[in-house]
Amino acid sequence: MFARHCPRVDELKSLATSSSRVSNRVKRHVERCETCNQVVTQLRQDAELIGDLREASLSLDDRRRQEIVEICRKVASASDREG
Ligand SMILES: [Zn+2]
Repeated sequence: MFARHCPRVDELKSLATSSSRVSNRVKRHVERCETCNQVVTQLRQDAELIGDLREASLSLDDRRRQEIVEICRKVASASDREG
């Protein structure tokens, strides 16, 4: 699915979370490569979601928090099987 010249996933992850540490080569590539662009968009949404969850979890009681942890665990293991 990745073209040979695509940056590594951890480079795309850096771009999604803090673009300041990412080389211009990677940035330029992502602008042109639809596959990498989608990966970065997805990673960015994940990062936002995790931030939201972290914030929301501060106002939850332990039982609700445990339920959410369980849901995340199921989602994570489901996506492991896909890959
Ligand atoms: Zn690419």
